[in-house]
Amino acid sequence: MEKLLHSVYLDEEKCLGCTTCLRSCPTGAIRVRGGKAIINESKCIDCGECIRICPHHAKLAKTDPLSLINDFKYKVAIPAPAIIGQFKTKYSFENILSAIKALGFDEVVEVAYGAEVVGQALKYEYHAKRYPKPLISSACPAVVKLIQVRFPELTDNICRLKSPMAMTARLVRKRLRDEGNYKNSEIGVFFITPCAAKATMVNNPASSEYDKYDQIDGAIAIKDIYPDIVKNLNDCNIQEGIHNTTPEAFSWALSGGECEYLKNKNVLHVDGIQNVINVLDEIECGKLDTIEFFEGLACIGGCVGGCLTVENNYVAKMYIQDRAKKMKQTSTIHMPDEYVKSIYNSGMMHIKERILPRSPEPLDQDINKAIEKMKQIEILEEKLPGLDCGSCGSPGCRALAEDIVAGKAKEIDCVFVLKDRVRDLSVLTNELLQVEHPTEKPVNKKPEFSE
Ligand code: SF4
Ligand code: SF4
Repeated sequence: MEKLLHSVYLDEEKCLGCTTCLRSCPTGAIRVRGGKAIINESKCIDCGECIRICPHHAKLAKTDPLSLINDFKYKVAIPAPAIIGQFKTKYSFENILSAIKALGFDEVVEVAYGAEVVGQALKYEYHAKRYPKPLISSACPAVVKLIQVRFPELTDNICRLKSPMAMTARLVRKRLRDEGNYKNSEIGVFFITPCAAKATMVNNPASSEYDKYDQIDGAIAIKDIYPDIVKNLNDCNIQEGIHNTTPEAFSWALSGGECEYLKNKNVLHVDGIQNVINVLDEIECGKLDTIEFFEGLACIGGCVGGCLTVENNYVAKMYIQDRAKKMKQTSTIHMPDEYVKSIYNSGMMHIKERILPRSPEPLDQDINKAIEKMKQIEILEEKLPGLDCGSCGSPGCRALAEDIVAGKAKEIDCVFVLKDRVRDLSVLTNELLQVEHPTEKPVNKKPEFSE
């Protein structure tokens, strides 16, 4: 797949310009102009809200086709923990993973494996001095981007451990290279993704420090391969030992899964992008100063609610909890501490660069002009009705004022301004008629659009 800044995009043919998506976008990235939605790339965080809400299915996520795996000699699938929630519990882990392998992969390694490493390492990272508190989880790339765009003062709080997805890829590649049968370039690692945000992350990692040894060669949507996995469930060779992760690790698919690794700490986990925004607002204001770790996930319920999954998120949660409960009854063997510590101390788990804010487009490069434009925006905002109805094609009156000053919209895009202008014009027309033909009755004495 080409390197994309975003995986969320618009199918113009399907878009009717209804403005439904406008109001759901948490960063105000959408406008409707000329009857079609437009996504502002500098603001979009790939949260997938617009995909979920569009009644015409005009918002989509660009992911990779399964056929891409054929470009590689050795093909590895790394499915997100959410995959397990897509299937009834009558199917064993081994059955589900073997059905994925039967799609043409040489090997399947659950991302839950990387989650176990990252989860255990979190205990060490938590004590690192480099973070202001609360430490904020970096597990959800949509939330990381949200912080970069809307909460720039909190970017230093974001945990700089690599994601379970990147760690899984790295550890698999390392093992295969050590075994010596394949060159790094011959190994294709494919993430089976529940969401658009992670598809973007595969194609455009947030940090240049992700290198070829973390490389993931494609993101395949769960929903795209789901029907074929279902077909394989009943007639694939079930490989024993293909599954070896803990209930804690695959519970990363649920909100609170990561918090489980920081027992005895004051942790808070929140799901759903608007709820995450509300909590980040409070953290930014210093209201939640007793919280030591914050896990925010953009989707309702966590990754089981990702826009590229198939199963209802509550049902998927039930399946995962059910499996976790049963496994916990038998045994939970975590990875040896020394193993995790050796990976942690090797430095391969860390993003060393700071995660920086993503600044919005400046009003103007010239500071004086920018100040002047800011004043114009405030004057315009005062004139607008303040209803934030979105019918102008901007998500609110302030946004419309900004768009007008940026030359991207007109005052009469606001239906209320337009109505006033038409009324003024009608009054003026009548006055002129009276001057020209004093005996004629005024036309349209009572405007049709009376309030
Ligand atoms: S993916 Fe999220 S941030 Fe991007 S345009 Fe859609 S709703 Fe807005
Ligand atoms: S919660 Fe999980 S599925 Fe949803 S956007 Fe974040 S990482 Fe993706």
